[in-house]
Amino acid sequence: MTQTTIPEMYGCMVFNDKVMRERLPKDAYKAVRKTIETGKSLDLDVANTVAATMKEWAVERGATHFTHWFQPMTGLTAEKHDSFINPDDKGNVIMNFSGKELVKGEPDASSFPSGGIRATFEARGYTAWDPSSYAFVKDGSLYIPTAFCSYTGESLDKKTPLLRSMDVLNHEATHMLHFLGRENVKRVDTTIGSEQEYFLIDKDLYLSRKDLVLTGRTLLGAPAPKGQEMEDHYFGVLKPKVSAFMHDLDEELWKLGVPAKTKHNEVAPAQHELAPVFEMSNIAVDHNQLTMEIMKKVADRHNMACLLHEKPFDGVNGSGKHVNWSMGTDTGENLLEPGKTPAENTQFLVFLVAVIAAVDKYADLMRASVATAGNDHRLGANEAPPAVVSIFVGDELAKILDAIEAGETPEDAERTLMDIGAKVLPTLMKDTTDRNRTSPFAFTGNKFEFRMPGSAVSVADPAIILNTAVADSLREIRKSLESTPKEDLTTAIMAHLQKLLKEHKKILFNGNGYAEDWVDQAVARGLYNLKSVPDAMPAFLDPKNTKLLEDYHIYSASEIHARYEINLENYAKAIHIESLTLQDMIKKDVTPSILSYSTAICDEALSKKELSPDIDTSYETELVAELSKYYASIRAGLKKLSCDTKAAEDESDSLKKAVLYHDTILSDMVAIRTAVDAAEAEIPSDYLTYPTYEEMLFSLR
Ligand code: ADP
Ligand code: MG
Repeated sequence: MTQTTIPEMYGCMVFNDKVMRERLPKDAYKAVRKTIETGKSLDLDVANTVAATMKEWAVERGATHFTHWFQPMTGLTAEKHDSFINPDDKGNVIMNFSGKELVKGEPDASSFPSGGIRATFEARGYTAWDPSSYAFVKDGSLYIPTAFCSYTGESLDKKTPLLRSMDVLNHEATHMLHFLGRENVKRVDTTIGSEQEYFLIDKDLYLSRKDLVLTGRTLLGAPAPKGQEMEDHYFGVLKPKVSAFMHDLDEELWKLGVPAKTKHNEVAPAQHELAPVFEMSNIAVDHNQLTMEIMKKVADRHNMACLLHEKPFDGVNGSGKHVNWSMGTDTGENLLEPGKTPAENTQFLVFLVAVIAAVDKYADLMRASVATAGNDHRLGANEAPPAVVSIFVGDELAKILDAIEAGETPEDAERTLMDIGAKVLPTLMKDTTDRNRTSPFAFTGNKFEFRMPGSAVSVADPAIILNTAVADSLREIRKSLESTPKEDLTTAIMAHLQKLLKEHKKILFNGNGYAEDWVDQAVARGLYNLKSVPDAMPAFLDPKNTKLLEDYHIYSASEIHARYEINLENYAKAIHIESLTLQDMIKKDVTPSILSYSTAICDEALSKKELSPDIDTSYETELVAELSKYYASIRAGLKKLSCDTKAAEDESDSLKKAVLYHDTILSDMVAIRTAVDAAEAEIPSDYLTYPTYEEMLFSLR
C-alpha cells in the first residue's frame, strides 16, 4: 500500500507558488509574482495564460466548476459555481476558463447585506480576484479567493477593507523603518494566527435540539450534575471519536494548505481548540473561514456536530478565537520581537508603543469590531475577558515602559534594564511565567494576542481596525519626529514615546481582568466599558473613528454607515430568531412535557388513593403544585415575550430596535429559561422531547 506523506499531501489542492513556478511560462509567473507583491493588475493576455493553466491543474484534481469565493457581511463565505464546459454546435464540449472569468465575476449583489448601499446604487456587484491568496480545489470546484464590491465600488465584504488596511499599515510601517534607517525593508505585512475554539457533540442529539439547529446555542437546559469544576478536560486525553475527527480535520486542512498546528481539549467538557501556524493576515482570514467550514463538514462525516457559537451552553465556558497579531518585514523580521541591541530595542519600543497608543485611542472600535449577539454572552462572563479593552505587557516590560514614561534617558532606561538583570530585552521577554490569561489584549513575547473575538466571528473585522489604528499611530510618531536632526533622533524618539505613554498608560493593566473591582477601576481610568452590541455599535459613528477610517480610505462614509446598520440588523435578527425558537420550543416541547408528567403524577396519586385513601400522596401533590407554578410562570413569560417581540419587530430605528432586543427580549428569555430549567430538573428524561445538557456534554466516547 502506498502511503502519502504529509509533505506530499500538504497543499496538494492549492494552486500555490510552487505549482505556478512549475506550470506557468516564466513571463507569466513573473507577472503573477509582481501582481502579488505590488498589487499591479495583470494584462489580459497573462490572465488568460494563468486561467488556462489553473483550469488544467484543477481538472486534473477532479474540478468541473470554478467559483469566485467571497466574504460578504454575513460573516460567512459565499460561492456561486460555474462549470468549465463550453458546448459547440456539434454536440461536443470543451473545458474553458478565461482570464476574464478569473479576474472578475458579476454576481447579483441584491441578496447580500448592504446596509442601505444597495438601495442607493445598482444591485449588481462584482468580485475581483485576490491573487495574494491562492486558488484551491475543493469538492469538485476551483475556488478563487475574491473581494466583493458594489458596481460603484463600495465594498460589500470583509476582504476589501482588510486588504486596504494591510496596505495602509504596510505604507506607514515601511515608512517608519526607513525613517529609522532601515532602508533595506521593502514591505511590512501583518501576521495573524487565530486559535479557534469549538464544541463537538453527537449529531443525533444536535438534530433533536431545535435551538442548536436554528440559533447555534441552547436557549434552555438545566445544568448537568457535572460541569467543568473538576478541571479534568483541559489538555486531557482525547477521546477516540474526537481524536479520529481531529486527524481527519488536519488532513483536510493540510491538503488545502491550511497550516493546522496544535489541537487539544479546552476547559469546558466537549470543548476543543485548533491553532494554525501564523500567516499573512488576509490568508489567515481566508484560512480561518475555511477551517470553520471544514470543521463542520468533517464533524458531520464523523456523526458529530461542530458548534462554533460563542456560548452554546450556559454554565460552562464559551468559545473564543484568540487572534495573535504581529507585523513582519519582507526581510523576515518580526517587528514585535524585542531586539538584541539598544538600537534594535528602540525600533521595537517604537512599534510597541505605537500599538499601545493605537489600542487605547481606538479601544471602542476594537470592541465594536468583535461585537455580535453571540459574543455578548461571552465578554464579561467569567471565562472571557471583560468587555473593557486593556493591555497586558507583563511586569518586566512594564518596568521598562515606566522608566521611559518617567523620562529617563535611553542610557538610564538601559541601566534600568541592567538593574533588573539583563541588558537587552529578549532575555526578559522569554520569561512568560506571568502570562496573564485574563487580559483581552496581551503581549506574549513577540506578538499581541487579542482575546475578545468570538469563535464564530470573522478575523477580518478586528484585523481591519488594528492594522489601521497602528498605522495611524506610526504616522503620528513619524510626523512628530520628521524635523529632528539625525544625531538627536534617539533622544527625540524617547521623549515622544514618553509623551505617548503618559497619554495612553491608562490602557495598561497587568492585574486580574476577571476581578470584580477591575471594571469600576477601568471606568474610573476613563476606559470604555461597552457591554453589548447596542452599547458598542455607535463607536462606528464616533467622529474620531469615522475620521480614522475615512482618512485612510478603509471605508467611505457610506460604507461605515452600512456596516453600522448591518451589525445592528444582524443583532436584532439573531435575537428575533432566538425569541421565535424559544416560543416554539415552549409550545411544542416544554409545556407538553410538563403537562404529561404532571398528568402522570396525578394519575398515580389518584390510583394510590383508590387503592387506599390512607396512602400518603403529599409528595405527588407538592410536585404537581411546583410544576403548575413553573407552568404558570412559563405561560405568563411566553405571553410577555411574544408581545414584546412584536413591539421590537415594529421598531424601525435600528439602534432603538437593538436596544429593545437587548433590554427587553433577552431578559424575557432569561426569565422564561429560569422557570423552564427548574421544571426540567424535576422531569424524568423519558418525558423530555429534547436531550439534556448531560447527554450533550458527556456523550462522546
Ligand atoms: P500560546 O501559548 O498562546 O498557545 P503559541 O506560541 O502557541 O502561543 O502561539 C499561538 C498562536 O500565535 C499560533 O497560531 C501561532 O502561529 C501564533 N503566532 C506566533 N507568532 C506569531 C506572529 N509573529 N504573528 C502572528 N501570530 C503568531
Ligand atoms: Mg494563545
